[in-house]
Amino acid sequence: MEKHWLQVMNHLKTSLDHTKYDAWIEPVRVSFEGRELHITAPGRFFLDGLKRDCGTALRTAVDVVLGQSITIHYAVDDSIQAHAAAEAKRVKTVVTNTGKVDGNIDSRFTFANFVVGSSNEFVFAACQAVAEKPSQNYNPLYVHGGVGLGKTHLIHAIANTLIKANQYAIAYRTGERFTNELIEAIRTRTTQDFRERYRKVDVLIIDDVQFIEGKTSTQEEFFHTFNALHEVQKQIILVSDRSPHNMAHLEERLRSRFNWGLVADIQPPNLETRLAILHNKAELAGITLESDVAYLLGSRISNNVRELEGALTRLNAYAHLTHKEISIDMAKHVLREQLRVVERIVDVDDIQKKVADYYAIQLKEMKSPRRSRNVAFPRQVAMFLCKELTRKSLPGIGEAFGGRDHTTILYACRKIDNMRKSDAEFNDEIERLMKAIQPDSI
Ligand code: ADP
Ligand code: MG
Repeated sequence: MEKHWLQVMNHLKTSLDHTKYDAWIEPVRVSFEGRELHITAPGRFFLDGLKRDCGTALRTAVDVVLGQSITIHYAVDDSIQAHAAAEAKRVKTVVTNTGKVDGNIDSRFTFANFVVGSSNEFVFAACQAVAEKPSQNYNPLYVHGGVGLGKTHLIHAIANTLIKANQYAIAYRTGERFTNELIEAIRTRTTQDFRERYRKVDVLIIDDVQFIEGKTSTQEEFFHTFNALHEVQKQIILVSDRSPHNMAHLEERLRSRFNWGLVADIQPPNLETRLAILHNKAELAGITLESDVAYLLGSRISNNVRELEGALTRLNAYAHLTHKEISIDMAKHVLREQLRVVERIVDVDDIQKKVADYYAIQLKEMKSPRRSRNVAFPRQVAMFLCKELTRKSLPGIGEAFGGRDHTTILYACRKIDNMRKSDAEFNDEIERLMKAIQPDSI
């Protein structure tokens, strides 16, 4: 049964924020009795946090890995706490040997296992530069971009590199934790300690700094910490889901400071990079992933790398439990919720119209017998998109294009598919079209 719990943990690693995972999942004890899973937390406070932050994700992970018939029981055992504290101490001692770090850094997030593509190469280079020579390149380094695009991964990679260098005191906090610590310090009248803790570090990393937006006292405190560190040339690294310019409720003086160094944004990866990420993650996890399955996942799930990873984990768990190889059909079955988003809403007429508009041809040319290239090519693009984005069969699509034979549709799909693989610019064009047709999913 331990193996099953490991699978549940693996699933949680991808579905949960790693800070939550480290804080709540790592320390619990588990045991199985028949179809019952017993989770024992080190203390009442801990149990509340676990349920609040991870309850739903845990239930989902258990459903996926073990099935819905498993019931979860929660319990508290205060004696675990002593054990957890001892464990924490042990980890700390290890860490002090390699450089001092205050905060949870995930050692799995490295530069080596980050896949670089055109969407993130700039920010990747900036992070590497800062990791190699903190305080000398960009200060502060401000990284921003959408959810699940690898921001946290990159700043942990910086931290991991610095830990290895063994000469820096590092503090890592999320904006949320920084705020909570400050509130706690104010309550217990220990703000002086709070200040000192942050002002003696060499590198201060704040993840999800957007959290402090609109929180006056946190911003005030952070402003002074920022100045104190920057003045003595200590490295500051900030991560946010938006640019300084778009932090509407940020004090002006902080905004201008955030812009002092380098502001770099990270974009959603294109198809090629998504496929590379999938293959990379599969290899790391020892999963055999055929390229047609990777293509299905990569082309359909595209706005968030975390989702992509989650899909892979889910598929792998299913394959294990059913003792089958991962296949296209299995992916379509197991991931129907995620993949269907596209199929539900789009219809052929809509695709024909959008593609005709895009290539500036008349809509009626979609069904006409004319074969000149300026109309035949857009028509083939539209056929391809119908196959990708709707549930229609090849003959059904042929019907919608003026009663063409299904082999004509198949020929068009193969041609566009091949062009996509060999021509990155054309591929981007197709992705833009998909986005225009189906704004939510691609
Ligand atoms: P963010 O902080 O931007 O929301 P994360 O850094 O937490 O996103 O990334 C989500 C998941 O996606 C992590 O497991 C991370 O390892 C993975 N990931 C994102 N981008 C890449 C990439 N380019 N190469 C490898 N893994 C990636
Ligand atoms: Mg993050």
